Amino acid sequence: MEQLNKSETIALRREYIGQSCQLFFRKDPIKIVRAQGQYMYDERGNAYLDCINNVCHVGHCHPDVVKAACDQIATLNTNNRFLHDNIVLCAERILSTMPAELSVCYFVNSGSEANDLAIRLAQIHTGNKDIITLEHAYHGHLTSLIDISHYKFNLPGGVGQKDYVHLASCPDTYRGKFQTTDYKSEDLGHLYADEIKEICDQVQEEGKGICAYIAESMLSCGGQIIPPPNYFREVYQHVRKAGGVCIADEVQVGFGRVGKFWWGFQLQGEDVIPDIVTMGKPMGNGHPVAAVITTKAISESFRKTGVEYFNTYGGNPVSCAVANAVFDTIIKDKLRENALVVGEYLLDNCHVLARKHSIIGDVRGVGLFVGIELVLDKELKIPATEIASYVISRMKDEHILLSTDGPDCNVIKLKPPMVFTKDNVDTFITLFDRILKEAREHQDLTSTIIKSVNKDTILTDLSNKDARTFKKSTEQKIKSI
Ligand code: PMP
Repeated sequence: MEQLNKSETIALRREYIGQSCQLFFRKDPIKIVRAQGQYMYDERGNAYLDCINNVCHVGHCHPDVVKAACDQIATLNTNNRFLHDNIVLCAERILSTMPAELSVCYFVNSGSEANDLAIRLAQIHTGNKDIITLEHAYHGHLTSLIDISHYKFNLPGGVGQKDYVHLASCPDTYRGKFQTTDYKSEDLGHLYADEIKEICDQVQEEGKGICAYIAESMLSCGGQIIPPPNYFREVYQHVRKAGGVCIADEVQVGFGRVGKFWWGFQLQGEDVIPDIVTMGKPMGNGHPVAAVITTKAISESFRKTGVEYFNTYGGNPVSCAVANAVFDTIIKDKLRENALVVGEYLLDNCHVLARKHSIIGDVRGVGLFVGIELVLDKELKIPATEIASYVISRMKDEHILLSTDGPDCNVIKLKPPMVFTKDNVDTFITLFDRILKEAREHQDLTSTIIKSVNKDTILTDLSNKDARTFKKSTEQKIKSI
């Protein structure tokens, strides 16, 4: 199956592929030649347990999805200006999972295209320009989305914050501006939502209105964050009062990953309904297909402009056949139920490990969306970035694929294909336990250094940003030992 040996692939990649396109495990990349279910196989036939691939949602190369794609591509593929059953049946399936208000679909090819169209719809419908986005958010690679993705525009070489973009705190109740240690958990949603109100007030005082508030229903790049109860309910009220629409980015977290529901926003209550929902990644199980779902009113505003929307590949018969097969497989293979049961088992086991390893500062998650935050010191919550990177690399040696997220890259993230089993959880936990023991050696050194610093001063004076600087200098000290 291999056309080149691994070193030739690396050499050609280095020569021909843009160097900004980075690989997982950069120092020692893996060459994957095939995959099935929750396993990926390298060129030597080694199997890797895939804990991070949220795209291959129903399992890599699921036979029903493969068959649907092959059958359709052998029959017809063309743009959606011809009548075809697949596109309308796909829309019908998706809308059957949505609140009744969300009743119109647009088909596109990627999460980025979906979010770009969502912003365009919001601009047309509201006539406003100002957008509220969250700290550490990522919404896609198009220029319009880099501008509203703090994760990208804030980088040293990034484009910086545009004047129409307003940044609100990530509703991270472990490490964010308002934390469970300082506030009652039922108040946290309100406290974070109040910040959105302040932004809305400020924009209105300047004589403008809000165009949109965009957020993932659970924040992936932010570090596997589950927003506190009531957060979206209150945010949506403030945004609408200021003339804006609310966009739920479900590109990573949608299609039943949370188990109990089809969509992440549904975790916040039946009455919490976005104006626009975007979806992608899991929708095609690896095939490029994505969508924007919105209300009749927003879609009417778009129609009234008289400008036609045409997208060459969006909603083509093959993409829709694939999306339909993914949807049917989620139901047939009971994958939401599996996410619920296996996700709970995973979380329970992670909590057991957290009691054993002081380096685990926090465990959080819903369904098969889980984050394990590593810290050098539980009280100071200093991110254990280097140790997280060590753990990921050691787990890879043991053929478990993981990665980190969060602004400090210290959150071990798990969002495996939805066919993940309890046996897979056991394998992960056993190895993670062993490798955390190895990591403890590093941590002991760190604790000695931390104890030599005046803890009270740090606790009272440090903002999270300062804590990050402190963490970097601490880790440099560790390296120098
Ligand atoms: N939104 C979110 C939350 C994402 O994670 C991503 C991709 N990582 C996108 C949008 C963009 O999707 P795509 O890469 O398919 O354009």
